[in-house]
Amino acid sequence: MRRRTALKNLSSLAAVAIAPDFVQAKEDRLLNTHTSKQSLRKIATEEAFTIPEIATAYKEIVHKGGTNLDLMVLKQIYDAPVGQSAGSSAKNNDVSNRDKQTQSMLPKLLDFDPIRLADMDANNVTMHLLSLTMPGVQILEKSQAIDLAQLANDRLSEVIKQHPTRFAGLACFAPQDPAIAAKEMQRSINNLKLNGFIVNSHTNNLYLDDPRFFPILEAAEALDAPIYIHPRAPSDGMASPFRDYRIEGAAWGYGVETSTHILRLIFSGTLDRFPKLNIVIGHMGEALPFWLWRLDFMGAPGARAGRKNALKPSEYFQRNITITTSGVEDPSALRFCIDKIGVDRIMWAIDYPYQPTTPAVSFIEKAPLTETEREKIAHGNAERIFKIKP
Ligand code: MN
Repeated sequence: MRRRTALKNLSSLAAVAIAPDFVQAKEDRLLNTHTSKQSLRKIATEEAFTIPEIATAYKEIVHKGGTNLDLMVLKQIYDAPVGQSAGSSAKNNDVSNRDKQTQSMLPKLLDFDPIRLADMDANNVTMHLLSLTMPGVQILEKSQAIDLAQLANDRLSEVIKQHPTRFAGLACFAPQDPAIAAKEMQRSINNLKLNGFIVNSHTNNLYLDDPRFFPILEAAEALDAPIYIHPRAPSDGMASPFRDYRIEGAAWGYGVETSTHILRLIFSGTLDRFPKLNIVIGHMGEALPFWLWRLDFMGAPGARAGRKNALKPSEYFQRNITITTSGVEDPSALRFCIDKIGVDRIMWAIDYPYQPTTPAVSFIEKAPLTETEREKIAHGNAERIFKIKP
């Protein structure tokens, strides 16, 4: 009997010592079962918009055609056949519910008020950190990309001025011209007072470890503003196996493209050249946290010829990389990421309008977290990283 009590005490002590966060989370759950989380301040950090001029430019690109893998989804959103929803032809029977949802995205992408604000109000979402939707201006020809990036940033700043407590925003730029991009980045932070930058992974099949893009990374570091590396479909060199079965997009291709981009920044030594660079990635870290042990084993400094990283991959996650929960509403994945990279490196996101708001809100309100963890993920980390007024 004494032995059993001792063992019991020992095991509960061990539980506290080994997993204090878990124990705290369990206590919070027990205490707060009926507590409403509606008052929880929620800053959603990967929320998409576009402007009519860019929507028109995408439609023209779809009509022009080509091999770019993003054309598959662009065709659905920006060039959906008229009357598709009527289901009048035999072909339309092939359109899935998910495809129909994709075809209805455009009005939501073009709107700030009333559709978006009503959706936020109905779900107690405090703020959207807005960003120009994928593939941004990076799929456009250089001079058009430069002009439309400026226009999108101007419109974004106007909307934020109208609703300063409901919207913040990430500036886009045209990596096709790195020098002009750097100037637009300076204007976006210093004049437009935006909160950071969005880049949609590759530009003409090139990644940010390419030295031609270094003026962009220098500008971000000098401005002390984060770059959100958002997915687009895999670049031409790896596109082929993704063409069938619609795995080029959110199901798989986006994550492979973006995680590959991050590994290029790490293994090229780019993050050593720009040690203060602040990179954000969505979708619960694009699977990289799950790979960190293996990446550390295989990717330790000097482990393989050709790799130029000075730190272990996991150490860049402590210094340069923050993740968001966009599109992954899985409490187990969230707990795993807290354990792997720390709660200060994780921010909540919806991925509006591609993901529905209500389940994303329910996820952050109900996930088994301590209240300290919940506040950090729901808004505190975003306020720190994107310099949003608390
Ligand atoms: Mn997104």
